[in-house]
Amino acid sequence: MPSLSWRHHTLIQAVLSRGPLKEKEFHSIFSDITGKSLDSHKQLFNEYLGKINIELSYVQFELRACRNQYDGLVYYGVINTVADEQSKLGTKYTVPQIAFYKGIIEAIVQDTTGNGTISTIEALNIRLENQLQGSSSEIPPALRNFSMSQKEKAIHEFIQDQWLCGTADGNIGLGVRSFLDLRSWFHNNEVPSCDVCNEASIKADLCPNESCSVRIHKYCLKAKFSQTRNAKVCPGCGTQWPYVVTKAEMVEEEEDAEANQQPPEPLRRKKSRASRQVQEEGSDEPSSRRFKRSGHNEDESTSQSQSQPSTQTLRKAKLEALAAVEVDNAGPGPSTRRATRTSSRLHR
Ligand SMILES: [Zn+2]
Ligand SMILES: [Zn+2]
Repeated sequence: MPSLSWRHHTLIQAVLSRGPLKEKEFHSIFSDITGKSLDSHKQLFNEYLGKINIELSYVQFELRACRNQYDGLVYYGVINTVADEQSKLGTKYTVPQIAFYKGIIEAIVQDTTGNGTISTIEALNIRLENQLQGSSSEIPPALRNFSMSQKEKAIHEFIQDQWLCGTADGNIGLGVRSFLDLRSWFHNNEVPSCDVCNEASIKADLCPNESCSVRIHKYCLKAKFSQTRNAKVCPGCGTQWPYVVTKAEMVEEEEDAEANQQPPEPLRRKKSRASRQVQEEGSDEPSSRRFKRSGHNEDESTSQSQSQPSTQTLRKAKLEALAAVEVDNAGPGPSTRRATRTSSRLHR
């Protein structure tokens, strides 16, 4: 059994006490503790994680990384590997609160628009008795009497604890803890996966062909379409995929071209200073909505991307397309297609 040093303990403590940590923060804590930069000591970093996880497995915990699908950033967190909500959430939340959480998660993953969100009203209207497994002869009073104000309070707490998140457009989405925690549940419950990375696609872009079920995360599209010279078509049905590259991404693309077209590492994308600024200023979300709107505006975007003879005019066309969509973005919000599917319940 490997024994952990104070360095390992400090890393675990940092994640436990400060909640899920952004990759950048977690890496910098690692560098501070070990005095080694992660770029040149990737192997050492992986050894640390491996050792920590061997120890944590004895108490059914795991330190893992996941990507928050709304901001595209990687987070590290410790999760409880015991597979029932009572043991994960039970120390803090009541039985009806946990049932409510499950109902919200199910509603979010069934969002067929790929936004991965529900409105507060939709959340408040979730009926807890639907969460009862098997024949519901008698509804427990705790569930029956769970009031609207108790639901509001619970949503607030879930967001504070990062089980849920409030999205930029005022809706409710999955929190980082849920992304960390529910990975295997997503896979076991028909949650459609991303065609590029094979992780669940809660917040993803849909193939413009309505009869095709391909979904791809925005950040996976970026890696697929802008960093490589792949054809901008759906990998499933071959339909032209309207992809608008932002100015920041274009800088990135040019830098990559200069750097001998190194293939991108999926979990650790190289970023230009410009694109980093975009994310730090939190203005990534509007560009994602621009993209989504361009998806709804299929014909226009398709014709734009078809008239591109050379790379230079391609870039110009991209800029023009971007400007056009920006103007378009001033209109009303994106349409909401919503699922009525009730299949994937949180059964364990
Ligand atoms: Zn993906
Ligand atoms: Zn398709």
